[in-house]
Amino acid sequence: MSRDADVLVVGGGPVGLAAAIEARLAGLSVVVLEPREGPVDKACGEGLMPGALPLLERLGVDPEGAPLVGVSYRSRGVVADHRFEGGPGRGVRRTVLHAALADRARALGVSLVTCRAEGIAQDASGVTAGGLRADWLLAADGLHSPARRALGLERPGPTGQRRFGIRQHFEVAPWNDHIEVHWTRDAEVYVTPLGPDLVGVAVLGVQGADIEAAIASTVGERLRDARPLSDRRGAGPFGQRAARVQLGRVLLVGDASGYVDAITGEGLRLGFEQARVAVAALTGGRPYEREWRRVTRPFRVLTRGLVGAASSPLRGGIVPLAARAPRLYGAVVERLAR
Ligand SMILES: Cc1cc2nc3c(=O)[nH]c(=O)nc-3n(C[C@H](O)[C@H](O)[C@H](O)COP(=O)(O)OP(=O)(O)OC[C@H]3O[C@@H](n4cnc5c(N)ncnc54)[C@H](O)[C@@H]3O)c2cc1C
Repeated sequence: MSRDADVLVVGGGPVGLAAAIEARLAGLSVVVLEPREGPVDKACGEGLMPGALPLLERLGVDPEGAPLVGVSYRSRGVVADHRFEGGPGRGVRRTVLHAALADRARALGVSLVTCRAEGIAQDASGVTAGGLRADWLLAADGLHSPARRALGLERPGPTGQRRFGIRQHFEVAPWNDHIEVHWTRDAEVYVTPLGPDLVGVAVLGVQGADIEAAIASTVGERLRDARPLSDRRGAGPFGQRAARVQLGRVLLVGDASGYVDAITGEGLRLGFEQARVAVAALTGGRPYEREWRRVTRPFRVLTRGLVGAASSPLRGGIVPLAARAPRLYGAVVERLAR
């Protein structure tokens, strides 16, 4: 069978597109398979942490959005603000991010094919999916990655209560230049400024968490007269694991490679970093499996720790502790943001 490209990317979400751009910049020919057309939307808090911006910059992508100068934890009148030390992150609507990545990929000669990839198969000389063949395949097909399952790499997620998230947009001037995180009894409400008259509200919690009460008791007043600009969209459960992130000629990147939780707002920065080290591995760099562990370690350790505390009787003490110990709180935020 003839070869269609050096690299097939399965999944044209932000991480798949970032991986495709990385691969083109490394001189490889790339085809991306993505079933959804147009700027693709998805449930997300839409906060690009400061460390995501240089990763996008090296890809030649600079999406419009609103500056995020820090993180503001809030609970029952207690406020713990941390200002990012090395400059702001950015709140960017997912459709804007997707369009910017897709435009850049097309401009570099990436071929974007509207198709659901099925039937991944590999042999000594190549890998096929969706009827196309290449030397390598980067699977960036999301949290519930069909590729991960088809390759037998799916592993049970963590035990305990499963967590989910939803998001919705509102037409209202942002009232804070920090990402606000309101901790209620059983949910976390994230408010992200995205533009002059646009905020995103994301709510995370365990199945059965009272989302309406969480929104009403935290940002209900702010949103009282604000026009909803999108329907609610959800995703989860979050805890997803892969036995390994490379099997022969297939490398898992982004949420497909395993995910802990959105509680630290990290998925995009981490996914772009994974795309970078995956393509480096294809072009003679360090082995992906080891690099993946290295770049994801702080996220895996700190996010598991925070989810553990959030799901325990310690939950009510998290914001007061952040307010009382600003250096510890700041160190954790900084470790995750870059
Ligand atoms: C409520 C919520 C809030 C979040 N907040 C933040 C935040 O503030 N900041 C942050 O950085 N991260 C956040 N995240 C995490 C972030 O959204 C993800 O980490 C990110 O979307 C991962 O990107 P991805 O490209 O790996 O996967 P996805 O964005 O899920 O893209 C996967 C793509 O694969 C495609 N696909 C699936 N199956 C196939 C197939 N068989 N063939 C071809 N294509 C296929 C899908 O159509 C999709 O377009 C949040 C997540 C949630 C749920």
